[in-house]
Amino acid sequence: MNRRGFLQAASVAGATVAFGRLAWTEPGSTAAATTAPPPGWVDTPMRWAQLTLVENDPGRFDPQFWLDYFARTRSDAVCLSAGGCVAYYPTRVPFHHRSAWLDERDVFGELVAGCRKLGMVVIARTDPHATYDDVRAAHPDWIAVDAEGSPRRHWASPEMWVTCALGPYNFEFMTEVKREIMSRYRVDGIFINRWDGSGMCYCEHCRRNFRVACGHELPRSSDPQDPARRAYILWRQQRLFDLWQLWDGEVRAVNRDSCVIPNTGGGATSSLDMRRIGELAPTLIADRQARRGLTAPWANGKNGKEFRAAMGPKPIVGIFSVGVEEPYRWKDSVQSEAEIRLWVADGVANGLRPWFTKFSGVLHDERWLKPVERIYQRLARWERYLRNEASLARVGLVYSQQTEWFRPGAVEDHILGWYQALVESRIPFEMVHDRLLDTVHLRSFKTLILPSIAALSDGQCSQLRSFVENGGGLVATHETSLYDEWGVRRRDLGLADLFGVTFTGRVEGPMQNSYLRLEADPVTGKRHPLLAGLEDASRIINGVGRVEVAATRPFANPPLTLIPSYPDLPMEKVYPRVTKTEVPQVYLREPAAGRVVYFPWDIDRTFWEVLAPDHLALLRNAVTWATSEEPPVMVTGPGVLDVTVWRQKASLTVHLVNLTNPMMMKGPVRELIPVGEQQVRLRVPAGTQAGQVRLLAAGTTPRIERSGDFLTLTVPSILDHEVVAVDLLEQDSDGAGFSLRNPS
Ligand SMILES: [Zn+2]
Repeated sequence: MNRRGFLQAASVAGATVAFGRLAWTEPGSTAAATTAPPPGWVDTPMRWAQLTLVENDPGRFDPQFWLDYFARTRSDAVCLSAGGCVAYYPTRVPFHHRSAWLDERDVFGELVAGCRKLGMVVIARTDPHATYDDVRAAHPDWIAVDAEGSPRRHWASPEMWVTCALGPYNFEFMTEVKREIMSRYRVDGIFINRWDGSGMCYCEHCRRNFRVACGHELPRSSDPQDPARRAYILWRQQRLFDLWQLWDGEVRAVNRDSCVIPNTGGGATSSLDMRRIGELAPTLIADRQARRGLTAPWANGKNGKEFRAAMGPKPIVGIFSVGVEEPYRWKDSVQSEAEIRLWVADGVANGLRPWFTKFSGVLHDERWLKPVERIYQRLARWERYLRNEASLARVGLVYSQQTEWFRPGAVEDHILGWYQALVESRIPFEMVHDRLLDTVHLRSFKTLILPSIAALSDGQCSQLRSFVENGGGLVATHETSLYDEWGVRRRDLGLADLFGVTFTGRVEGPMQNSYLRLEADPVTGKRHPLLAGLEDASRIINGVGRVEVAATRPFANPPLTLIPSYPDLPMEKVYPRVTKTEVPQVYLREPAAGRVVYFPWDIDRTFWEVLAPDHLALLRNAVTWATSEEPPVMVTGPGVLDVTVWRQKASLTVHLVNLTNPMMMKGPVRELIPVGEQQVRLRVPAGTQAGQVRLLAAGTTPRIERSGDFLTLTVPSILDHEVVAVDLLEQDSDGAGFSLRNPS
């Protein structure tokens, strides 16, 4: 065996020792193609409805009211309560609890038949997370067990028990329930709510299965550097993916044109690997229903971007709640129309197909009905321009689940800071999963942003190196690549060579009262474009955390240098002890054809906390400099807009979502406030010519000016959501002219 072969074998053996049979595929490797073909219907629905019945609905609610509402809203798909906690049909599966109000009715079956008459795609909803005393008596091992060894009562419905997600309750009982629903109703799919457990379970099955798979007892600590916890993070996922595949296989065995849709996924803080989810799921439901607390109004769009990073062009549906989504769970409440409109608009602008959800067939507050009807009718009119084929964004914002799993709490605030900065800068962007950094997934991007993506493997680092070698731009901050993929600190940054620095051993923070000096070229007096917009500033505030590094190559005239912390009290002592250092706080390089910006401090996280406009300027300028090309669309004018740009089969759209509102950073929005005139300059894709241009919300045809590949036009005003829709004429095959491609 040669040295290389030996090292490979050794590293494989090492992984086996640490994690038993658990395998975590290396980035860039091809996953086993076990995925079944997508059901034929998945790309059809554009407007989803969900009615989740409560147990006493049967006999009290009016099914026809709901069928009429689905028709009026032009909903083309529906998710209806079927079984799990409560069965709404005469089930024969032992221990499957029928609604105590069901009698001999088949409420689910009636609704399915009504929705089919309307031509809707029909999905059955199940929820397996809670059960009853009779089940506990007959199958005590189906119940979740807490760390002290006691079976868990349900926290909100104390007459119920919490079920174990990773044992026979889900693997056997719920499989039987799904088989029955699919056999009786041949629905198009089964949606599964709360299927992935309600916290750690220490039941006999979990203990034994974990020991067999990993050789550890179940972890008692939440420290991901504890070997048992680390193994558990992966083992739990493996169990859930096994469950997913079992359920999917069973429902497809009954109805080949169906699938299961487990409710799952999200961004860096999601506990299931989005890359694997993206491989398994033909479609998914992004479940972030509304704002709460300090949720930004663009968070729905962020959810869409996070899912798309893993799902690619597969349809992604965005659930929105019509109610207040605070921790106190007012499930029968209603939000303001303005809040609902803005939330849905940002999702649609970011490629989500909307799904309204309502609990309880008997309504306690009807104020949401008209607003949702108006939103859906508008989206139905726009449908042709909402069937997106590809985002034209050139900037990718990387998110990292492994950083969150193995360095908990370290990454999301950096991502949020960048997200806010890119929205404010009106730079169209997508999100990128850190385990999908291969050339195919990165091919549409010119620049990648690494918001303190601390945990990166050697393989991921070399993918990033190749990206820059092939002409890509890279903007990285703070602890990016300071840890390996397991969250273990490296001796030096994994990307030290790319950044042109070496780690000198210390991460400083939190820093009080530290600043940055803005420097010019001493000969020409010129400043770097990174400092554009800060011409009258000689120093600005620093961040709060700083990775200490030293340059390993010459950096002439660094534009930002460190002014170290000095006392901030008593006031008499507040004067800088050092007014100038030679310590750069940004490293700018142009290796090969690419461009690299490294901020060794937490500019993005501090921006999310403080929202300083000087930091915004640096973030925006860093992306602009690293990208070094004209963006696909530029929108100038007042206010805060979320700008996205899409290609459809025969058109191009620019979505402008007006987030300018006093309630922007803490909702709910009281009223929509129109923002004034915006100049839009957009690039027409190569090989096409612009035909008719429409403003879909205004219903007008703007005057356009053409210059080379670019169109410019004015949008006079935006209330909540405007779409600039450009029909594209494609060059005829003989090259003689342009004609409209038939939009299917
Ligand atoms: Zn268990």
